[in-house]
Amino acid sequence: MAGKARPKGARGSSLLRVLTKREAEAPDGPVVPNTRMPCPGLWKTPVIRWDGELMACCADVDGEIAVGNLRDADFDELWFGEQMTEYRLLHIEGRFDAIPKCWSCGGINFYKMSPEEVRSYLGEVGRMDLWPSYTGRMGLDAASV
Ligand code: SF4
Repeated sequence: MAGKARPKGARGSSLLRVLTKREAEAPDGPVVPNTRMPCPGLWKTPVIRWDGELMACCADVDGEIAVGNLRDADFDELWFGEQMTEYRLLHIEGRFDAIPKCWSCGGINFYKMSPEEVRSYLGEVGRMDLWPSYTGRMGLDAASV
């Protein structure tokens, strides 16, 4: 790749972050900080396709991470159901690789999930145990959020 150009669409992707010398030469192998934010699409922009499929986000036109069809279930059942909860928790944990579609995507970066929204969500689903590791990986002061 010539100069400092990045592939189109990859702006903001933590996948393309250049390691510092210290990170690259860490004694136990390269340390790759995972500060990628949970994708807000999973909370804020459900997409319903013409055929009733409810996709987890606007980038999923093929329905790879669709969570069901509105002909078979109602919206709340799907949007707040087990599969969406799993996707959201994987994003909060920074385990983007567990969802290939998300791993290969930079995520939506023109709106966000604020730390307060993430904390409130963890409280709603009874997973406050993930809050310390989330604030740790994002470099946030857990007590001040
Ligand atoms: S990371 Fe990409 S594929 Fe995953 S939910 Fe966000 S926009 Fe969709």
